[in-house]
Amino acid sequence: MNMPGASDWVLHFLDARGRIGALRADVEAAVNEVRAALGLEAPSADIVIKAADWPMHPELAVLGASQGPGRIDLRLDTGQIVQGSAELNARLLRILFHEAHHLLR
Ligand SMILES: [Zn+2]
Repeated sequence: MNMPGASDWVLHFLDARGRIGALRADVEAAVNEVRAALGLEAPSADIVIKAADWPMHPELAVLGASQGPGRIDLRLDTGQIVQGSAELNARLLRILFHEAHHLLR
């Protein structure tokens, strides 16, 4: 939702090769949940989502990084991630809350 003056999070899927595909729904749900939890405290940000270029250690199958005040990057090892799984949802939430706290300070 874009309202004048309201902060917003804009998702950018870098997915020309179609590897993120069905995981989009998982990412969108987690982003919406974190964004809603932060409420008015959330500054506007771009969320950039891409697939990992090579197989990652399982611990790093979902990885986040904050890139400056208005950007969060997510990298997904789509070869290891189970679409719609509770584990994926928990990992996305944990990472997004962590990265969001960098936006707030
Ligand atoms: Zn951090």
